[in-house]
Amino acid sequence: MANKRDYYDVLGISRDASDDEIKKAYRRLSKKYHPDISDEPDAEEKFKEVAEAYEVLSDDQKRAAYDQYGHAANDPNFGAGGFGGFGGFGGFGGGGSYSGGFSDFDDIFNTFFGGGVGGRSRQQPNAPQKGADLQYRMTLTFEEAIFGKETTIRYNRDEECHTCHGTGAKEGTQPTTCHKCHGSGTIQVEQNTPFGRVMTQSVCDVCGGTGEEIKEKCTTCHGSGIENKSHSVKVSIPAGVEGGQQIPLRGQGEAGRNGGPYGDLYILIQVQASEQFERQGTEIYYEQPITFAQAALGDEVKVPTVHGNVKLRIPAGTQTGTVFRMRGKGAPRVGGGAQGDQHVTVKVVTPEKLSAKERELFEELAKESGQEVKESGFFNRVKDMFDND
Ligand SMILES: [Zn+2]
Ligand SMILES: [Zn+2]
Repeated sequence: MANKRDYYDVLGISRDASDDEIKKAYRRLSKKYHPDISDEPDAEEKFKEVAEAYEVLSDDQKRAAYDQYGHAANDPNFGAGGFGGFGGFGGFGGGGSYSGGFSDFDDIFNTFFGGGVGGRSRQQPNAPQKGADLQYRMTLTFEEAIFGKETTIRYNRDEECHTCHGTGAKEGTQPTTCHKCHGSGTIQVEQNTPFGRVMTQSVCDVCGGTGEEIKEKCTTCHGSGIENKSHSVKVSIPAGVEGGQQIPLRGQGEAGRNGGPYGDLYILIQVQASEQFERQGTEIYYEQPITFAQAALGDEVKVPTVHGNVKLRIPAGTQTGTVFRMRGKGAPRVGGGAQGDQHVTVKVVTPEKLSAKERELFEELAKESGQEVKESGFFNRVKDMFDND
């Protein structure tokens, strides 16, 4: 996995390539490297590489995951503990274990987006349909985003009815073939038009297009086959996530229809700002105030990092604005590999109040460096005011 080429590079396209460009690139390259016709030395390998890149980039969901997580997203272990372990991807024990203590209860936010109701359903009312996808908004502290977090979330979703297992029929009964459309889901309707009588097809009004009729409805779901239930799931947020990223959890969305699979849950990450740090990707930025003396003479200061306090040597003669890099004190990259640095910008703070002793020393210092020092004590300043009149 480590030496895999970038899929966009494999297809020779930009990261914002359209579906059409992806298709064209794939057609061109699969022809070029087809083992039966290609003269290229490693044609077969290249051909497979192109096919794999196309498989991912031509699928909107796979492409989105790849854009966010790179090759890790395509790893079969992705989400199953492969790295930092998303708990998701079908590996959950399922719902029903509401063991309390859900601190994230208030950041719940479910939205439908997508779902399986496509044009195809009109022609094949009995075809399995994937359930709707859900989105869950999770707010992390600055540190949680860097180190990852294990948590359990709970939300309401449509599940397959536990009484009828999705059929909608009363316990012990089964749906029967619709008596009106005989299972096709469509009926012929005769219409009078100015051109004469015309036969048109329309959705069966008895079964609503499903082709099945339920004589006695399930008492739990009243025939819908669906039950809205509270559902909980364990989530492992990987170290290094950033605001705006989405973590997919396969099968944690809503129930499908006609035996179709559950939709997916997308956890949308939001990250709270830190009072002292700023972060960009794996890099963390911090501003360290130091005194004149520390800047001039040098010193060792304790700098806070998300990994704890770290000593930083300030060399003598350091200018304000100098940036020091503390290696490895930043945030990790999701999926492992690079660990960022902390960048410390030194800011020399000019004292606003001086003690008598400090004033004396500064004046002496000024004289030493050739500066003419005006007597500027309180009485002198008052005197100056009157003198100016
Ligand atoms: Zn019907
Ligand atoms: Zn039911």
